[in-house]
Amino acid sequence: MTEIRVLPSRTAYSRPDELGPRILGGEGPYLVGADGTRYLDASCGSGSLIFGHGDERMIDALRAQSRKLTLFPSRHFSSEIVERYARALLDFGPPSMSRAITFSSGSDAVEAAIKLALQHHFAAKRPQRRKILGRNASYHGNTIAGLGAGGFVARRKPYEDVLAPCTKASHAHCAACEFGLQAQICALECAQSVEDTILEEGPENVAAVIVEPIVGAALSAAPPDPRYLPRVCEICRHHDILLIADEVMTCFARTGRPFASMHWNVEPDIVICGKAISAGYYPLSALLVNERVVHGPLARDRYFQNGQTFACSPAGAAVGLTVLDRLANGSVAANATRMGELLRGSLRKELPGELINSVRGMGLMVGFDISTSAFKNPQALSPGHYSDRFQRAALKRGLVIYASSGSAGSEEGDHAMLLLPLTISEREVKEATASLVAAANDLLETENK
Ligand code: PMP
Repeated sequence: MTEIRVLPSRTAYSRPDELGPRILGGEGPYLVGADGTRYLDASCGSGSLIFGHGDERMIDALRAQSRKLTLFPSRHFSSEIVERYARALLDFGPPSMSRAITFSSGSDAVEAAIKLALQHHFAAKRPQRRKILGRNASYHGNTIAGLGAGGFVARRKPYEDVLAPCTKASHAHCAACEFGLQAQICALECAQSVEDTILEEGPENVAAVIVEPIVGAALSAAPPDPRYLPRVCEICRHHDILLIADEVMTCFARTGRPFASMHWNVEPDIVICGKAISAGYYPLSALLVNERVVHGPLARDRYFQNGQTFACSPAGAAVGLTVLDRLANGSVAANATRMGELLRGSLRKELPGELINSVRGMGLMVGFDISTSAFKNPQALSPGHYSDRFQRAALKRGLVIYASSGSAGSEEGDHAMLLLPLTISEREVKEATASLVAAANDLLETENK
């Protein structure tokens, strides 16, 4: 078991009173500490590092393109590699997509998607369509509009009064159904709540509905009922509202398909890609946009009014092309499906059920709830306390997990995710399971002493 040293931090991101173990490097699925400790990384840059750390092909791609050209003014010139990448992205995406544009983070791609939806209606002479609708317990990045569109209560809290207004429909997480229903007897009330919200706001005022096909940070890998997303898509089409799929965490084979919306044959109007799009080797994100959005009104406006310094980066394109090349034969996605099933199966079997329940997910996006009732005195502590404790217990057992809270309404409900590299082996899946089981038992023991 590894001891965690606590030191003061000078970065604005860490809690001032504590600093985790110092990391020197990464090797494949492992982070390597300054003291030589190897941590199996099931956080992977929040799911970005699909090929793990220190991947030579990714490093070479970035190095080679950086020597030639990293940035250029994309309003005045074109670039062969950027065009090639846009075409490759469109080939990889849902068939109806007809344009691609790249940015540098999931948050700025979400922001761009919202602006694109607004510009689409503005150009179509429907300037009153200004509302973006979201859902409870969701996360769409950290900008004022993106955080506003999301329903992650704890992350919104310090900014609540200035966030972009956004009415929320119910989420679609069956284990915490907002209508108190069992999956078998529900009539998709969560999808109906999207339509009810549209009707309350007035369909003529709504520009877009934004959803994560499988909710990540806010609910830890919660896939909806298979009928849900097709129904939401139908509702949006009926009211001439754009459907934005935020696939920042679910894109690029993380869930075993190129995009999570493909599990249910849904073709959104705008698809937001991030994280795995560069396998973590360049700050890259993208929007894929269908004909409906770019042809017609927006074509008359000539371009999307949203310039950004790192948009259309050739360095990002080179990294992105290498990722696409490696995903092309489907073997990485197939491994994600196989290893994900193995991991969920062994977690369900081996983890102490009184502490961990509702193991879920698709591909290698794997999540579960942490039940505070397993502890002697659960009420006295703040939400997120036990996911934090569990994260530390896992770290002591050499495993990095992605812990969060808020799955049971407001800030209540601790949960966590495992986001391993998609190239993970059976042996490493077994290692992750053993470390997590040991951490769960450690936590039960220390907290209930
Ligand atoms: N949308 C979703 C669904 C995400 O999971 C995230 C990141 N966790 C974002 C947007 C924001 O991406 P970034 O952190 O790269 O800005």
